[in-house]
Amino acid sequence: MQFYSTRNQSNLVGFRDALFQGLAPDGGLYLPENIPNLWDKIKYKDGSYPELAFEILYPYVDGEISKSSLEDICQNAFSFSVPVNEIKKDHYILELFHGPTLAFKDFAARFMARSMEYFLDNNSKELTVLVATSGDTGSAVASGFHNVDGIRVVILYPKGRVSPIQESQLTSLGGNITAIEIDGSFDDCQLLVKKAFQDKELNESINLSSANSINIARLLPQSVYYFWAHRHIGKNESIIISVPSGNFGNLTGGLFAKKMGLPVEKFIASTNKNDVVPEYLKSGQFQPRQSIHTLSNAMDVGDPSNLSRIQELYQHDLTSLRNDIVGYSYSDDETINSISETFSENRMILDPHTAVGYAGLLNYKKEFKSNAPGVVISTAHPAKFIESVEPAIGEKIPIPNRLQHFMEKEMRKIEMPNRMLDVKEFLLTA
Ligand SMILES: *Cc1c(COP(=O)(O)O)cnc(C)c1O
Repeated sequence: MQFYSTRNQSNLVGFRDALFQGLAPDGGLYLPENIPNLWDKIKYKDGSYPELAFEILYPYVDGEISKSSLEDICQNAFSFSVPVNEIKKDHYILELFHGPTLAFKDFAARFMARSMEYFLDNNSKELTVLVATSGDTGSAVASGFHNVDGIRVVILYPKGRVSPIQESQLTSLGGNITAIEIDGSFDDCQLLVKKAFQDKELNESINLSSANSINIARLLPQSVYYFWAHRHIGKNESIIISVPSGNFGNLTGGLFAKKMGLPVEKFIASTNKNDVVPEYLKSGQFQPRQSIHTLSNAMDVGDPSNLSRIQELYQHDLTSLRNDIVGYSYSDDETINSISETFSENRMILDPHTAVGYAGLLNYKKEFKSNAPGVVISTAHPAKFIESVEPAIGEKIPIPNRLQHFMEKEMRKIEMPNRMLDVKEFLLTA
């Protein structure tokens, strides 16, 4: 399969190049040249999650990764459970938080790490994966790449702006993972990463790659679990899917699934008050803004980079986009209400991101009087957001062992001023 850049249809590269480049050299985002219809092939199949992942991902890596290697990559990457639970009749939750860092970003990071490992051979120069994080991405990338041969990971995170749980996830792994605490904001960290990629001297001496959400290799594995959800709830019907969204990589994975033939009545783009996409769907005007801080902080994105991919998938036709996606947005108070009501009515504990998604599903079903089965993509374990969840349900929630384990380990970090010179020297000499 070839991938083209959203800025220039004739800039084609294979999976390997798209994976290592992240962003296309012309600044565009990569998209698959064609999206094969896989529905007839998989609709009546059973089998494990890694088997389903293999069926869906193979066409995209065909010619570059052998069948048996892709099977190994999928077995290895998706080695945890992916349960679908019923909240109440025709309302389901797809739990994507059973990976090592208890958030859905594990799916993408683990697939990406193993794909990169596959392409690096003993003769390759060591690869440095540089990533800026406000929390969840960094921990998923750190965990996904931990102990992968030939790759070192350097994470830049803003001092005092990540939660204690997230900081312990970033800093406790050691080995090939280095966490650098920057005396600055998340935007500063992102800028340092950008500068590193533009630094000629640095790129001539070390082999630098990125792991941020614009990478197509992070989106493809995010299509698989939509098929998985349908298999558990859809029978032969179309389903409704609500996706708690920030940078819209997750929803883009869902739209790929629909193009691959998955029967979907509607996608719901559920956001917090960073609502530029619901606003765009209403008005037709896309107006990026500064992000504002909310309880569902992994969705605090004011200029979602995957929107241009979504527009491209729909050939910039707003009408067909509106046919497939409806948007709703919720305040922090509404998010808290969603958590407490779901707990008191259904004894189900949702994290703030999933709670936004569930509010969107209820809203849609009411507004459009739809009886189709609906599923919320649950992106994080509630224990990761204990500060807001416990007061909302009025009870203590148990901390899973995996999380406890992280928190008991020693933290190792390097503190650095917000200065390119220091980051560069570290990358060149460490
Ligand atoms: C990253 C993240 C999201 C948003 O996903 P996008 O692909 O950026 O839309 C939602 N919930 C959680 C917990 C996340 O970590």
